[in-house]
Amino acid sequence: MRLYNTLTRKKEEFIPIGKTVTMYSCGPTVYNFAHIGNMRAYVFMDSVRRALRYCGYKIKGVMNVTDVGHLLSDGDEGEDKMAKASREQQKSVYEIAEMYTKAFMTDLAKLNISRPEVVAKATDHITDMLNYVVKLVELGYGYETSDGIYFDISKFPDYGKLSGLNLDNQIAGARVDVNDEKRHPADFALWKKAPKEHIMQWESPWGMGYPGWHIECSAMSKKYLGSRFDIHTGGVDHIPVHHENEIAQSEALEGHQTVNYWMHGEFMQVDGGKMSKSLGNTYTVSDLEAKGYSPMMFRYFCLNTHYRKTLNFTFASMDAAKTAYTRLLTLINEHKGGKNEIPLDVLAKYEQEFADAVSDDVNIPMALGVLWSMLKEPASKQIYDLVQKFDAVFGLSLDAVPQEERVDVPDEVTALAEQRLAARKNRDWAQSDILRDKIAQLGFVVIDKKDGYDIKKK
Ligand code: AMP
Ligand code: ZN
Repeated sequence: MRLYNTLTRKKEEFIPIGKTVTMYSCGPTVYNFAHIGNMRAYVFMDSVRRALRYCGYKIKGVMNVTDVGHLLSDGDEGEDKMAKASREQQKSVYEIAEMYTKAFMTDLAKLNISRPEVVAKATDHITDMLNYVVKLVELGYGYETSDGIYFDISKFPDYGKLSGLNLDNQIAGARVDVNDEKRHPADFALWKKAPKEHIMQWESPWGMGYPGWHIECSAMSKKYLGSRFDIHTGGVDHIPVHHENEIAQSEALEGHQTVNYWMHGEFMQVDGGKMSKSLGNTYTVSDLEAKGYSPMMFRYFCLNTHYRKTLNFTFASMDAAKTAYTRLLTLINEHKGGKNEIPLDVLAKYEQEFADAVSDDVNIPMALGVLWSMLKEPASKQIYDLVQKFDAVFGLSLDAVPQEERVDVPDEVTALAEQRLAARKNRDWAQSDILRDKIAQLGFVVIDKKDGYDIKKK
């Protein structure tokens, strides 16, 4: 298997450390409903997990849930996102966290995103984070200011290696920093001292306070996966700040590289631009459902574009995904009862092409291409079975009956159809016609068959 590594900027052969692949994924900040862009990030995480499993690996995956410490700006300034939501929605931070975590888990389930083996809440790991910060300070990487403990990036010469940032240029171009106690504008908070009114605060060697945003990922990945693990995923927005800072913390503490493969999912745009509340274009999975797009149609929409490419959401392209997904199910369904024999070497060829795509940096769009081409074979149960095997990677519920064929028939219509069947058995054609019209008035058609009937929507 080959994976694109952001750190080395190339596709590399994937060589896991041990028998079980260890993988950490940056999870949501639970102050809001996740939008479809956020969900693309987790469809990506899920595709990586499914691809690894298909290639024969076992996985231990960890995902954090940020319920403290993520401030409005990634530069450690502004209010805590959770506190802001709590103030605005008149609920406690814990109620906010619970409500949005639950909503997020529901969306994961709707989208067939398998839950990582460990889901870790930041507020459950305050002691782990504090111990981490204390160690970093002991090692000389942290310093105290009037409002917190900061990481001194000048002590970590590799700072910027993930994004290839040139710090000198950055400083020259940086806006005047609001925090003039910091030694370098890119120094970041490991721990913040809490003003009295701050909602979430814990005891620390520096008085009451709360963790910085980045420390949770270093502390929790170490706790659950050890000081060296295989894969770390996140969105491309994490590269320049969050993941640089995580690397600085982890490598400073351990004295060696801690993550072997860094993988980042590209962003989703809406109508060619940024998703934002002010533009009213931050749709959720539920919003899409209300507009007639099922979660599987949205998953199909995501899978059609490689995870390292920007994906532009428009309702026209979502419509196309809806049509394609429905067509896909129809074609698969036709193979279900198919009696044709497909030569084994033909099946093996599809299987090989599929495996090649999946193991080439999780190329799901290419794997979908293989799926579409094999559906052109004469109707065969063998094709149907292979599709179901491939669906372990797609996670598209490809055993579902296409919606256009699934008819919810009201009892009233069934009763009329039964009466009509009886009338036909008695050769009472006049009554049969009357009943047919009644059924039509209710929006259905009966199609007569040898020993019964089918009912379809008109
Ligand atoms: P947050 O809850 O803001 O920490 O974001 C959760 C995840 O969604 C992170 O992995 C982000 O990288 C990702 N994300 C945020 N916006 C987008 C977007 N428009 N497209 C894709 N991923 C996104
Ligand atoms: Zn993280």
